[in-house]
Amino acid sequence: MNTQRFVFDDGHWLRGNIHAHTTISDGKLSPAEVLTLYSEAGYDFIALTDHDRYHVHSHSDLICIGGVEVTGYLAKKPIHLQLLPLPGLPVFREGQQFSLTDEEETRRFIATYHKRCIILLNHPAWSLLESDEVIRLGPIAGIEISNYSTERLNAVDGSIHLWECALREGRRWLGYGSDDNHNKESDCFGSWIWVKAAEPSAQAIVEAIEKGHFYSSEGPFIHRFEIRGGRVVAECSPVSRIIVKGERRNFVRRLGDGITSLEAPLNGQSRYLRLECTDEQGRSAYSNPIWLT
Ligand SMILES: [Zn+2]
Ligand SMILES: [Zn+2]
Repeated sequence: MNTQRFVFDDGHWLRGNIHAHTTISDGKLSPAEVLTLYSEAGYDFIALTDHDRYHVHSHSDLICIGGVEVTGYLAKKPIHLQLLPLPGLPVFREGQQFSLTDEEETRRFIATYHKRCIILLNHPAWSLLESDEVIRLGPIAGIEISNYSTERLNAVDGSIHLWECALREGRRWLGYGSDDNHNKESDCFGSWIWVKAAEPSAQAIVEAIEKGHFYSSEGPFIHRFEIRGGRVVAECSPVSRIIVKGERRNFVRRLGDGITSLEAPLNGQSRYLRLECTDEQGRSAYSNPIWLT
């Protein structure tokens, strides 16, 4: 039986925040304080991604991934690009600084690094980008669809709509969630990713993220999401809405108190399907898309 899953069975589920700031840029806590905060909260991994400076940190109980948030430009607006170097390649020097001045330089930067880094467009809604601007950015791997800091502290909507516009245009982009925390606790622990990694190591986590073997969550758990024998099957922790969305609204949906599964025949035509599970407090979990064609 032909089965497509958005993640595979083997491996470890690991929870992490891959967008965080410290006193190296505009965060209020030192790197050591942020690492302790997330370790004590039970996270498995983190990437401290300060503005325009690349660092790899270390901690005894938390797997640390190197990363940086680089300011670039699109349609004359500042944008923030998240770069996580792929394992095994010398990409950036410890402490390396970045200074992009215009869109042309930003496009050259993406072209230079997109095969050596996972490049993600951070908080496009907060950056005031329009969908036609986002979809012509170039060869990035995905966009940040849930950003706890900008949503909680600035009341900026998430970027799900911009992601869906890009998916409809055929961009096979991943969607990811993060805290983008700059403060202590007021913008921590609201949005994260669960990665299915071959082993609990920085290398395996980055490899799994590159393959899209993760989902984003603000609370709920996704236990299963697959297409099996012409049916879509989803299982999750108790929520009040489970919805499978495609590109032409040919979705299936289930509403109820504490529901944990959905199964339905595949109807209509869609190049992709994605799962969104929302609990009664409005917190969602978002799968990456399963591409059907
Ligand atoms: Zn940013
Ligand atoms: Zn940030």
